[in-house]
Amino acid sequence: MAVRSGGDYRESLAAMSPLVYLDGRVESVPDHPAFTGIIDSYADLYDMQGDDRLAFEEDGSRYAMSFLVPRTQDDLVRRRTAARLWAEYSGGMLGRTGDFLNAALTAFSQAGSWFADADAQFEKNMAAYVTWVRENDILLTSTVGSPQANRSVSAAEQGGGETTLRVVSQDSDGIVVSGARMVATNAPIANEILVMPQTVLRPGLDDMPYSFAFAVPADIEGLTLICRRPLRHGNSVVDEPLAARFEEIDAVCVFTQVRVPWDRVFLLGHPAKSNGMLTQTGATALMAHQSVTRTTVKTEFYAGLLSEMAEAIGIDRYDHVRDDLAQALVAVQMGKSALRAAEADGAVNEYGFFQPDMAPLAAVRNWFPRYFQTLPEKVRKFGASGLTALPYESDTRGELEADIDRYLQGRNVPGHERVHLFNLGFDAAVSSFAGRQALYEYYFHGDPLPMSAAYLTAADTSAHRQIVAKILGRGR
Ligand SMILES: Cc1cc2nc3c(=O)[nH]c(=O)nc-3n(C[C@H](O)[C@H](O)[C@H](O)COP(=O)(O)OP(=O)(O)OC[C@H]3O[C@@H](n4cnc5c(N)ncnc54)[C@H](O)[C@@H]3O)c2cc1C
Repeated sequence: MAVRSGGDYRESLAAMSPLVYLDGRVESVPDHPAFTGIIDSYADLYDMQGDDRLAFEEDGSRYAMSFLVPRTQDDLVRRRTAARLWAEYSGGMLGRTGDFLNAALTAFSQAGSWFADADAQFEKNMAAYVTWVRENDILLTSTVGSPQANRSVSAAEQGGGETTLRVVSQDSDGIVVSGARMVATNAPIANEILVMPQTVLRPGLDDMPYSFAFAVPADIEGLTLICRRPLRHGNSVVDEPLAARFEEIDAVCVFTQVRVPWDRVFLLGHPAKSNGMLTQTGATALMAHQSVTRTTVKTEFYAGLLSEMAEAIGIDRYDHVRDDLAQALVAVQMGKSALRAAEADGAVNEYGFFQPDMAPLAAVRNWFPRYFQTLPEKVRKFGASGLTALPYESDTRGELEADIDRYLQGRNVPGHERVHLFNLGFDAAVSSFAGRQALYEYYFHGDPLPMSAAYLTAADTSAHRQIVAKILGRGR
């Protein structure tokens, strides 16, 4: 099949029966109001793959561009262009589009020796799995973190060792796992769940049962997906421009004696190696190339929204508004520059693919989670009471139409148009959807604090200190 259409994606979901709870058991995910909007959006994304910028040809078949193995800088540009087109569709609000994890799989498919170093079979398993996902354009989500029972002890010690997902037995067919993973965004509408190693495992017997990587279908027997409350309230796309279409639900994944066949196991029993599965294979770099593309588009979305709002109510000439807008545009350029630098300074890595330079991408990954928080803040500052004077779409028509068009008018637009624009502002900065976006971006790459600690540890400040030393006249 290779690239699939929206219809193919819908068919794949209709053929699945995941055990999903959302205010009771969900009988049919495709028909449930919490999922119809997001499934429509993902179907649109798959339909977009008819565009040659989103797919490449190999041996007579077309594949999603996120599976293109980069051999040159130009290949990275092709990957970025495709990621950008998908990100533009939602203004960067969709964080779990297939291209994110496809980037990881692309790196894994090339880093065979890394897996073989643990066991030759793991290399074969991963290669076969990536081929299958690529051929069928499967939608993956992933889950990494352990339940948040008690963060003052290790994952292995959570709930007396009974809560964190672990291997409980193994036999000739495969491994059996039980326990929970904290969240997997989109799990109910994904085809497969990639269960990645937890990030910090200690090399030793204690962490052995927690050291694994495998993939299972989202509807595998024994897996329960427990969803949070939806942030879409069932209103129109005018009333909820973002939530109605881009609400990606998060679900706790509870595994009860789930049997994972050997051919879906990619790593087992190597705690120290597990910690490096993403970084050492080059997966982190390809994933960051996608995510920085997405977050740059998201910054552009906020810059565009702020400009529209400022113009709509005639505040675009005030200095503090112009300053806020300028800062957003500066952030856009920083994201774009980082991507160009990562591509220009990329190099062929030990696995033979052209890997973007991690330095500028790591800088954005450390900066954006905090910077992002300022964008909704600017929207709230610009919009003020305009972000609460928001009647339903239905009231902007009918008997209130004239009043709304007069009293809620903008500088150059009638009331119903200004309401539509400010609804977008509400969903981007005030609504529960916006709150979840802020949370999501803050923790997208993991906890920012250990991330910045690791960034600093890896940093080489000697050249900077040299400048200071020279000015101080040291070593003369
Ligand atoms: C909306 C959303 C969607 C997500 N989707 C996914 C997904 O699809 N797949 C996936 O794998 N993950 C997902 N995550 C999880 C994400 O990766 C984690 O939120 C992130 O890694 C932080 O881990 P945590 O949530 O367990 O926070 P915790 O580790 O519980 O941290 C909570 C707070 O305690 C502090 N803290 C914890 N331990 C320590 C310590 N030892 N020392 C000092 N301070 C500490 C932290 O700094 C933080 O402030 C999602 C998260 C969110 C919010």
